[in-house]
Amino acid sequence: MAKITRKPAPRKTSVPKKKAKPVAAKPKAAAKKSLKAMKPWTPPEVHEAFSRFRKANPEPKGELEHVNPFTLLVAVVLSAQATDAGVNKATRALFAIADTPQKMLDLGEERLREYIKTIGLYRTKAKNVIALSAKVLSEFGGEVPRTRAGIESLPGAGRKTANVVLNMAFGEHTMAVDTHVFRVGNRTGLAPGKTPLEVELGLEKVIPAEFMLHAHHWLILHGRYTCIARKPRCEVCLINDLCRWPEKTV
Ligand code: SF4
Repeated sequence: MAKITRKPAPRKTSVPKKKAKPVAAKPKAAAKKSLKAMKPWTPPEVHEAFSRFRKANPEPKGELEHVNPFTLLVAVVLSAQATDAGVNKATRALFAIADTPQKMLDLGEERLREYIKTIGLYRTKAKNVIALSAKVLSEFGGEVPRTRAGIESLPGAGRKTANVVLNMAFGEHTMAVDTHVFRVGNRTGLAPGKTPLEVELGLEKVIPAEFMLHAHHWLILHGRYTCIARKPRCEVCLINDLCRWPEKTV
């Protein structure tokens, strides 16, 4: 009798269970609704809002202290995850002795660390400032490059740094999006976006050219002193009639 040989049953391989993704906290109903329901601003409304900002503060200034494009670049690199006031406190003494890439290199990383040790992440930042000074000297003839690609190639400098330097040092119509601009762009409905880049591009699209030189500062100052994160001061807000935020308090 022929022997029946059974095929061995396929071995069960256990399929590793996918880890359940953490469920993101649902946005508050009102906030969720607000994102969908926000009516885009019309061009006359945007013009009106920036005309009011301009009337209230014709020449807005940034709050980061600097004496030339190089010290502005260094101040912006130092300001990542730090307040402008904290950076200024450290850089006043630093820029008095090191306001050029060569002087910064002569100072050296160790002594630089001493000047900026009150600023968060100061060790990494000191390393970056020394490396960027060396690169500005070796590749850009000692001058801060005037192009986005040039600035973004420097250690510690990203898109936001390039936007601030191009705008403040070289008068270009760039829009640096920090935490304040990001919040104002979204809350008001002027340029909603999930990332700083989306908000940046949205703002550049809607803001008329005549306001672009100062738009970055108007929005930062608006976010820092009026449309503040926890408790926006809607009652004194210059654009409260135009703002689309459904939770505004006026
Ligand atoms: S009305 Fe309130 S939420 Fe809207 S921009 Fe002004 S401060 Fe911000």
